[in-house]
Amino acid sequence: MGVEEKLPSGFLLTTVEGLAGFARKGSLWPATFGLACCAIEMMSTTSGRFDLARFGMEAFRASPRQADLMIVAGRVSQKMAPVLRQVYDQMAEPKWVLAMGVCASSGGMFNNYAVVQGVDHVVPVDIYLPGCPPRPEMLINAILTLHASIARMPLGVDRERAVREAEAAALAAPGAAVSTAAPSADPTFLDLPAVPR
Ligand code: SF4
Repeated sequence: MGVEEKLPSGFLLTTVEGLAGFARKGSLWPATFGLACCAIEMMSTTSGRFDLARFGMEAFRASPRQADLMIVAGRVSQKMAPVLRQVYDQMAEPKWVLAMGVCASSGGMFNNYAVVQGVDHVVPVDIYLPGCPPRPEMLINAILTLHASIARMPLGVDRERAVREAEAAALAAPGAAVSTAAPSADPTFLDLPAVPR
């Protein structure tokens, strides 16, 4: 967070927002972080054939303190979740998270106790990329979509207002009360269909 976050609302902040958004979207540095098969596709994205360097992003950083984009490439095991969160916490602000593939987005076909059923249980996700695995072109498309959203990102008081509105909308969404409630001891609380025996 820099001085631009402290500027008052108005014409000046709007101009700085445009400049900061342009600079930020063109200088994302992803953290070197791969969890499973999706990571192979992520690595291919930096190869000469797909050339992620065209968007100023070929430098995957080995230190989270030099990275501002986490590409969660692969399934997240319960054992790995705290490590993932620690890497996220150590990344520089502002930072973004891309959930790559169905495993990172929702647990995918690994619907079991060992795998986190969506990395949004551990870190806030900015964009989801479906597929198993998503091809490098799909990852590049998701990154460019994220670039567009970063370019429009408000700053300062505008950002605080946007965060407040997003939180209010999330709390008002259908099912929000269910998702924030404490887990029930009643095994039928998930309302799953009865399995014939
Ligand atoms: S989405 Fe498919 S390719 Fe990606 S980690 Fe899961 S199983 Fe592997």
